[in-house]
Amino acid sequence: MSTQRDLPWPAVAGADIGGSQLERAWSPDAFHVLAKPTGAICNLGCSYCFFLDKEELYQGSRFHMSDEVLDRYIRQLIEAHGTRVVTVAWQGGEPTLMGLDFYRRAIEVQERYRKPDMTFENTMQTNGTLLTDEWCEFLKENEYLVGISIDGPQPLHDINRVNKRGEGTFDKVMRGLRLLQRHEVEYNVLTTVNAVNGDFPLDVYRFLRDEVGTDWMQFIPVVERVDEAGKPAFLNGTFASDRSVGAEQFGRFLSEIFDEWVRNDVGRVYVQTFEATVRNWMGLPSSGMCVFNETCGLGVALEHNGDLYSCDHFVEPEYLIGNIGETDMGDLVGSKRQHDFGMDKRDLLPQYCLDCDVRFACHGECPKNRFIETPDGEPGLNYLCSGFKDFFHHVDEPMRVMTEALRSQRPAALVMEYLRQRDAAFDRAVARAGRNDPCPCGSGEKTKRCHGSHQSPPPVLPPMPTGPGEPRPRVRGRSTT
Ligand code: SF4
Ligand code: SF4
Repeated sequence: MSTQRDLPWPAVAGADIGGSQLERAWSPDAFHVLAKPTGAICNLGCSYCFFLDKEELYQGSRFHMSDEVLDRYIRQLIEAHGTRVVTVAWQGGEPTLMGLDFYRRAIEVQERYRKPDMTFENTMQTNGTLLTDEWCEFLKENEYLVGISIDGPQPLHDINRVNKRGEGTFDKVMRGLRLLQRHEVEYNVLTTVNAVNGDFPLDVYRFLRDEVGTDWMQFIPVVERVDEAGKPAFLNGTFASDRSVGAEQFGRFLSEIFDEWVRNDVGRVYVQTFEATVRNWMGLPSSGMCVFNETCGLGVALEHNGDLYSCDHFVEPEYLIGNIGETDMGDLVGSKRQHDFGMDKRDLLPQYCLDCDVRFACHGECPKNRFIETPDGEPGLNYLCSGFKDFFHHVDEPMRVMTEALRSQRPAALVMEYLRQRDAAFDRAVARAGRNDPCPCGSGEKTKRCHGSHQSPPPVLPPMPTGPGEPRPRVRGRSTT
């Protein structure tokens, strides 16, 4: 399953020069390639995996990256990078199906073409079911960051994450995950949020935190586009499948986990969406997630045969930029065509988004999800819009508290003490109020009809607590994709 990426902020040189679609329009110093050495091939059959259909793009293929393509890919990746650190990211399908020797050769190729002082960050997104001690020894030795896909506790995971016979894969995934932990391989967890687990945010979060024992998680919404008849229609679908998470459902999912996180786990558990949100509240140049940046275009997808696509969510013929056997990867990524793809994320926003008070945080999210109309009938609104609006409004106050703390060189974790004080002060105010008095929350309702029947946070900001310094949000250096 694909994810949204941590992306480098582009160091752009040169302007749009028009002409051929492969003329250079920008020269990013660094970019992110999701390489799929087995193409769409996977040992599992997860019901919502959008890669499964991609097999049809390469009918008759062995779906196996050759050593020639591997060599060319790594060499061109290194040549195109002006940075000291280069990320080499493997995904699928299921990348472990290539076998360990392929990845041993990949390390050899990196060493062969390495520039002086260059270091590599190798990452792999896997379902974990084929991991062995030998795999884990290799991953540990080469300092891989491994992303494991798991959708929550067994009943939630096994609904969609099944093998080819339709059987749940929870036990096998957990076995792989425990192997990684035993070998102390750096890993994180990717959870796709769908129509079912979307109703159980706290069960999912607490399971990942307390039972899996991870301190790094990503939540990716499942949005499958279908036509009126419910058939998969990828970029042409104007409806979402029944398996897809609902817009408000996704907003609630994020908000409920946020409430748990912001009261207990800030600085201790990394949730990619929350980190990106803090960064956007702070006005940093990049959120760290392509979907929440103003523009994109620096995350391309490499197929097993060297075909390069604009993004792994756009592996479709019209988004094929070229083949690295014919055109150098740096030229393909720097092309006007790819540049325009990335700028369109900003330039094609409907007016409704341009007028939106949380656009600085959302930026219309991913273009692949922009298939509904705005209230006044303009096309191109994100299917998840209402959920994102709810979520970003919901987190505004704690985000402002964290931003203020970080800007004054204090830890974002102070927000937890702030909320404790605030909640306690509000509870006291409610307890003091008469049943028929106006509720202390300011709703205008009688207390007995409002927070007198249940308690929830008040709207008033108490003073910020003080504490030792921390210069910026905790940003994990690497992300599997
Ligand atoms: S289209 Fe852009 S925003 Fe969406 S996943 Fe691809 S790079 Fe990210
Ligand atoms: S919340 Fe909705 S209106 Fe606002 S930027 Fe996002 S998609 Fe656009």
